[in-house]
Order: sequence, then C-alpha cells, then structure tokens
Amino acid sequence: MPETDAIVIGAGAAGLTAGALLAKEGRSVKVVEAGPHLGGRGMAVPEEGFKLNLGGHLLEDGGGGITKVFEYLGRTLGHGAASSDMVVWDEEKCGWGSIRDRYSSDKSELKKVIEALLATSFEELERWDDRPLRAWLAQHTSDQGVYDLFEFIAVLECMTDNWWDHSASENLICRKLHYEEANRAAYSFWPEGGWDGLFGQLRDAVVEHGGEVLMDTPVESVLIEDGEVKGVRLGRDKVLPNEVLEGEVLEADCVISTLPVWSVLRVVPESALPDWYAAQIRFLAQDHLKISWLGLYLATEEPVHVNSAAELATWTAAPRSRLSGFFFNQTAMDPATSPPGTNLYVCGGIIPGAKARDMRWVEHQFELFEEDLREMYPGLRGAYWRRRHLVHDPSFGVIQKPGLVGVFRPHWRAPNVEGLYFASETFRSRGIGVDRAARAALTVVEDYLGRKLDGNFGWRYG
Ligand SMILES: Cc1cc2nc3c(=O)[nH]c(=O)nc-3n(C[C@H](O)[C@H](O)[C@H](O)COP(=O)(O)OP(=O)(O)OC[C@H]3O[C@@H](n4cnc5c(N)ncnc54)[C@H](O)[C@@H]3O)c2cc1C
Repeated sequence: MPETDAIVIGAGAAGLTAGALLAKEGRSVKVVEAGPHLGGRGMAVPEEGFKLNLGGHLLEDGGGGITKVFEYLGRTLGHGAASSDMVVWDEEKCGWGSIRDRYSSDKSELKKVIEALLATSFEELERWDDRPLRAWLAQHTSDQGVYDLFEFIAVLECMTDNWWDHSASENLICRKLHYEEANRAAYSFWPEGGWDGLFGQLRDAVVEHGGEVLMDTPVESVLIEDGEVKGVRLGRDKVLPNEVLEGEVLEADCVISTLPVWSVLRVVPESALPDWYAAQIRFLAQDHLKISWLGLYLATEEPVHVNSAAELATWTAAPRSRLSGFFFNQTAMDPATSPPGTNLYVCGGIIPGAKARDMRWVEHQFELFEEDLREMYPGLRGAYWRRRHLVHDPSFGVIQKPGLVGVFRPHWRAPNVEGLYFASETFRSRGIGVDRAARAALTVVEDYLGRKLDGNFGWRYG
C-alpha cells in the first residue's frame, strides 16, 4: 500500500483546494508544485512598491464556492471591497455611461428575465452549452438594455465580445449563482488579505490537516500501469536538454492533475488515454481558443474614474484598436497594493488568441490600445508608471463560447485510468477563474470520496 493516498499536481487555486479538502477528510495528501510561488495563475508578486497579480484581479464568487470551501476548512475568506457600478463606453457618443442607463427606463423587462432565470433549473441551463446567450434571453425579452446588461457582463467575465460568442449556459449559470447567492447580476470583490493571503490560507489548511505542499518540485510524469495510477515521477533540472530523467517516484493510487489543457499532456502520457479524450484536450489547447489580452498596469497620482473609484469599466470596441476590454482601480479595492498617494489601474484589451504570438502585431496593438486609454481617460496622460504584459501563455483560460463549454470539455475523471482525475477550470467545470478552479477541485474530491461533502456549498458539477 502506498503511504500517500493522493498526489495533487499544482499548487494553484484548484490544487490547494483539492489538497486541503482531502487532508481535512483524513486522506494523506501531497501537493506538488513546480514553481516557487503559491497560486499558479493567481499568484501575486511585489514590484517597485506595487503588488501585481499574474491573474487574480477580482474574485467572482457569490458566496457558495470558494467562500464556502474556506468555511468548510474552518477558515474565513473575507469579502473585501466589491465593484460598485459598471460603466460602459458608448462608441456612438464617444463617452461613458452607466450600464444602468441602458436598462432602467423599463425595469419590468429586466425583472421578468431575472424571474425566468431564477425559475429555470441549473440542469435546464446546462442544455444550452451550444447556444448563444442572446438566444435564451430572446425567449423572454426583446429589450436591448437587458441584452446589454447580460452581454457586457459576459465581456468582463468571459472575455467574449460578439453577441453570438457569449455562451448561454456558462453566463446564465453564473448569473443565477450570483442572483441567488449575492442578490445581484454580477458580484466581484477583492479577497481580504490579498491574493497571496488567500493562497497562503489554503496552503496552511493543507498542512494543518496533515498534508504536505512541496514547492519547486516539478512532476515529470504520471505513472500508469494496466489502467491504474501508480504515482508520479518527479523531475529535476536536466543536465542535457534531452536527458531522460529517472527521478524519485512518489507512489499513490490517486493522482489529481490541476494542469490546464495546454500543459497537461506534457505530464500525463497521452498513450494511456483514449484517443477521443486526448483529442478533446488537444482541441481545447489551441492558441485561438485561449483567452488572450494586452494587459497594462498603470499608476497615477490623481484618481481616474467616471462615477466612483470602485467601478468596473468595459467596452466592446475601443476608439482606435477596436479591441474590447476592461479597466479598474486596484488601489480602490486594496490600498495596500500601491504606494500611498498613488492609484494602480489594471486594464486589458482582448485580442484573438491566434494573433498573440505575432509580436510585431502585439506591439502595434499596445501602442493603439494605450492611445485608446488616454482618449477614454484623459487623466491617464499623467500616468507616471506602467507595465505591459501579454496574457496568452499562460492564458486566463479556454474561451467560453458556445460549443466550447460544459459537456464539450473533457470530463474530470479519466475515462479508462483508475485513480486519475483532472481538477482544472479548463476541463469540465463552471464559474469564473479562481472560484471556478476551486469548484472544479470540490467536484473531483467529492467524486474521489464517493460522497458529497456537508459544506452547504452552492451548485457545482457532480
Ligand atoms: C492575466 C490573468 C488574469 C486573470 N484574472 C482573473 C480574475 O480577475 N479573477 C479570477 O477569478 N481569475 C482570474 N484569472 C484566472 C485564474 O487565475 C485561473 O482560473 C486560476 O488561477 C486557475 O487555477 P488552477 O489551479 O486551475 O490552475 P493554475 O493556477 O494554472 O495552477 C496550475 C499549477 O500547476 C503548476 N504546474 C505546472 N506544471 C507542473 C508540473 N509539471 N509539476 C508540478 N506543478 C506544475 C503551475 O506552476 C501552477 O501553479 C486570470 C488569469 C490570468 C492569466
């Protein structure tokens, strides 16, 4: 009998959640992370007095997801500042307005749609995996303001920009969760104690319950024999780039990979999986299906906003680059993330994933995008500090368009390998970002244990 029950690959949101829940349930567990930072795509790093996040900007959990996971672990995930308003750039008027201006003339239309959504079961919404959001909305209203509300939220949450590309199931399941749990269409907040605090708490929960988190320890491969998981082989730096490693083996009957679709087959041998399942992974890993954007951190001394510091801004076509995008003040969410007297802004211009490797195109788009921002926010001409970043490798996730979500994602359990699970938000899962990753982990842990955990959790797969 192996001395470890389960090995979890990756110490991001999914890996730490899976590790902490399994340890709390009395399983011996090792979370094995290749890099030096906790949090994976959600990691936070200090830079010149600022706190920059690779991924985590705002957390989108109405309360029944990662928040309940914390509670179940005997901890608290404090909801810090929440976004207060959504402002949208009106292309025709070349100016800003509140999303409320678009639907508030006849609120009865929005009310009707919310009632219909709350009366529709999650199971029914899941049947909309291959349809656009507008197709579902059109059954209940023809009001453009209501379409705008739902579709601008889709731009912010799923980074899709054309109305026909917003997935019905994905968006509606999130809207229903947010209405049910937080009583509003979209709820996003800053985790109290910051992103590093959030991941630190999850790591502590693993350790407190007797588990281990091994950092700087890459897994070279998952070991599979006769359709059963045997453990993992650990990697180390190669002396020759083509060296075949014979590193240390950690034995376990269960391996939970949290690697996204674009890196999982480097570690899980494709030959051990059915061809159709591996093909599904490869299909979703394509560049053009990765959510990609031109990212900018900008700092100013004077605040720059339309209505209030804690607003979220979005648009579907910026004046010059024509990119859709988002913008918010991170300092308004957490003053500790920038030096006193400064404001740190986070913004993104969403680009087609297929263009992200063309660096000349990317650089040109950055120039246009920065001009766009200065036009939309003249106060940004006074920005004294900035950092560009390209979101593609790693990406935010697989784009959530119709036909690329829900049942069109590979199942979390390897079909033919006993003990091999995939707890990743790029596999079958629902929600947004870090919360989605935590819900994916919960699904896998419950499947592995063969029972639901008694944590009063909100909806998740399984
Ligand atoms: C720019 C950007 C902005 C984002 N903004 C938000 C946001 O505002 N809100 C939000 O909720 N989400 C956001 N996300 C998405 C969010 O960060 C991810 O959905 C979430 O962090 C995914 O967590 P995960 O655990 O599933 O995967 P990951 O975080 O990718 O974790 C996988 C882990 O596995 C490790 N690993 C890889 N290979 C190996 C190996 N061979 N052996 C061992 N370990 C290995 C990696 O180092 C990593 O730590 C953003 C992402 C990006 C990139």
